[in-house]
Amino acid sequence: MLMYNIPIMKKLIEKAKNCHDLNREELIALLYNDDIDEDLFAAADEVRKQYVGDEIHLRALIEFSNFCKNNCCYCGLRRDNKNIQRYRIDENTLFALAKHASENMGLKTIVLQSGEDMFFDTDKLCSIIRRIKTLDVALTLSIGEKTLDEYKAYKQAGADRFLLRIETTDKDLYALHDPGMSWENRAQCIRNLGIAGLEIGSGVLVGLPEQKVESFADDILFFKQVQADMIGIGPFIPHPDTPLKDAKGGTLKMALKVMALTRLILPDINIPATTAMETLAPNGQVKALQAGANVIMPNVTLTQYRKHYELYPGKSATNYTPDKSLKEVKDKIAAIGRKVSSGYGYHKRR
Ligand code: SAM
Ligand code: SF4
Repeated sequence: MLMYNIPIMKKLIEKAKNCHDLNREELIALLYNDDIDEDLFAAADEVRKQYVGDEIHLRALIEFSNFCKNNCCYCGLRRDNKNIQRYRIDENTLFALAKHASENMGLKTIVLQSGEDMFFDTDKLCSIIRRIKTLDVALTLSIGEKTLDEYKAYKQAGADRFLLRIETTDKDLYALHDPGMSWENRAQCIRNLGIAGLEIGSGVLVGLPEQKVESFADDILFFKQVQADMIGIGPFIPHPDTPLKDAKGGTLKMALKVMALTRLILPDINIPATTAMETLAPNGQVKALQAGANVIMPNVTLTQYRKHYELYPGKSATNYTPDKSLKEVKDKIAAIGRKVSSGYGYHKRR
């Protein structure tokens, strides 16, 4: 690995700021070097301001089912976790929540997220999508791996975007932590989102056991290759009822570095300040907003369900109401002098 000195690192950051292009070796050097973090975050903040402005897009997150057929070793919703109470929110309640978020809270995007729950087949999902799209909102789905035809059906019913993290581009690591799943299939699903005409949201976990710093450089190059419209970077937080319960977990610092470099390389995409960042540090999301992020996803799931959607322990705001979650997010935004966007927050390619 090349070890660059600080002046050379600063030049690399300058180059990324102006040309939005770094090779694998340069990305790795910046990921390893902790002396230039403040410069890196400041550069990502500048690029964010230049390309997507000061406005922050709010996405109303509804966690509508915690049933999952998969067994990802890091996730509290995994099939083999018998210590969680499973729930599904029915279509009418889901619509009422989306309506409240749109009409009373003024939110312009609804995000429907769940485990891979086979109960919600294409017909049920398309019916929900069509109903929610009668509201004045953009609609994002985050429901896992589906066929190209299913992605096309969601798009035809009115869905606008889809979030599907690749989790890691290290295929061996993926095979280890995502038993029974195929990295190639997941990567193809991400490409299929674009073919179906949906905005592509992806991202990775940071801090999985055995995850190498080098692989974060590959992750960032992967985001560019698939022409992602949105990238979410989440620090991995170990859950006590999973095989990775004794793992160390990710750090906020490394998650912010991967996020900041993603902003430098993909300057005009949408990047959320993730909930997992806030769980690791009280000011995690604000730090992210000042290091390249321009999106926050306030949770509008009913309080009674939140504690059961435990991907990881300590997930912030599990006892909040939707209105309290929104107020907290708006306070944070106001405190750093940024504005809430009144638009739908589509990715505008430059
Ligand atoms: N089931 C769908 C999927 O996997 O794409 C969507 C819901 S899944 C809960 C959303 C994301 O949660 C995953 O992509 C994963 O990155 C994240 N996640 C799961 N367990 C986590 C953990 N222990 N720490 C941080 N993030 C986690
Ligand atoms: Fe299921 Fe998604 Fe959790 Fe994997 S990450 S177990 S697919 S909810």
